[in-house]
Amino acid sequence: VFNTVPQAPPDVIFSLTAGYKADTDPNKVNVGVGAFRTDDLKPYVLPVVKKADTILFNNADLDHEYLPIAGTPSYTKAAARLILGENSPAIHENRVAAVQTISGTGSIHTGATFLSQFYKKSKKCYISKPTWANHRNVFALVGFEVEEYPYWNGEKRGLDYEAMLNTMREAPEGSIFILHACAHNPTGVDPTREQWQGIAEVMSEKHHFPFFDCAYQGFASGDLDNDAWAVRYFVEQGFELFVAQSFAKNFGLYGERAGNLTIVTKSSEETKRVFSQMEKLQRSEISNPPAYGSRIVDIVLNDPALYAEWKENLKYMSNRIIEMRKALFERLTALGTPGTWNHITDQIGMFSFTGLTASQVKVLKEKYHIYMTDNGRISMAGLSTKNIDYFAKAVDDVVRN
Ligand code: PMP
Repeated sequence: VFNTVPQAPPDVIFSLTAGYKADTDPNKVNVGVGAFRTDDLKPYVLPVVKKADTILFNNADLDHEYLPIAGTPSYTKAAARLILGENSPAIHENRVAAVQTISGTGSIHTGATFLSQFYKKSKKCYISKPTWANHRNVFALVGFEVEEYPYWNGEKRGLDYEAMLNTMREAPEGSIFILHACAHNPTGVDPTREQWQGIAEVMSEKHHFPFFDCAYQGFASGDLDNDAWAVRYFVEQGFELFVAQSFAKNFGLYGERAGNLTIVTKSSEETKRVFSQMEKLQRSEISNPPAYGSRIVDIVLNDPALYAEWKENLKYMSNRIIEMRKALFERLTALGTPGTWNHITDQIGMFSFTGLTASQVKVLKEKYHIYMTDNGRISMAGLSTKNIDYFAKAVDDVVRN
């Protein structure tokens, strides 16, 4: 039965981590994986999550029954409110549906599957070049023709804005565009507000469908509203859209798989129908979403004191990353490393696209035991006050030679 099944290639990120773990060099550095680490390079359990844990633990009424098919309403409502804003016109007009999903990936998958069934305008879906690898994987899996729109300009080390808009103009009417709501992965480059306005204008003219991927709200800038700006702007402009939300990074709930798909439609009547189909889809895919992570998020988002504390925890994480950006920039500048490095501090979120080439990345691994993806992307959370000097000197060496 299985003799024609070809071997699939190993996942790039997970095999990088395996290589790092197997490395016995005491100076080894892992800037491959996208998970937050403390300055001691340890995983971080948010203090507010620990408090919510205690609340759950002490709740004698808690059981392990199934959640509703579309998830716990207090959770999905709070998640939609978080991304769209308290005063969202779409929420007030009952044009928002939300479905609890298996983290961000599950949300993208649920949204993509729904579109593959009900979106009749186009079979083309555009992802940024480059993007997080799962965008292509998921959309291709459910039958979309996946195309790319220009995003990163290697020479400018920034956004290829005009080329991006041109591709949007040339794409067939009604194409689906996957947009990173904030903290673009892997480049760390986001459009400015003015550029988002330009993007919305072209997308509106061409009736394209925006599918936002929001994996870093609050984690990117430390400000939840700032990181939701683009999504809210599109809603204000009257777009119907999907937003895939992940609570992996901003709650540090990576393995708990807490996510949400927020859907904005044109009318409350449409919302009802879309939601009914989402429930039907969810039933056949996962039956019911997992409870634990969503309970933590639900508690925090619905308690003003805990919510305030969460914002402080977010500030700690985003500040540590911003500090590491500054520290790396200062060291490379002090070393006189050839090239310009201001993109390191201009970029935002977990990742920085350094501009290092695949052959430089290879030397960093072989000579310095520094692990990063071939595209030169580094996770800022893999750097600390303890390894930053070592890292900067290694980069300086490979850039010079
Ligand atoms: N989208 C992007 C761009 C991401 O970087 C991530 C996290 N790596 C996700 C979505 C969602 O990940 P998860 O399924 O762990 O929530």
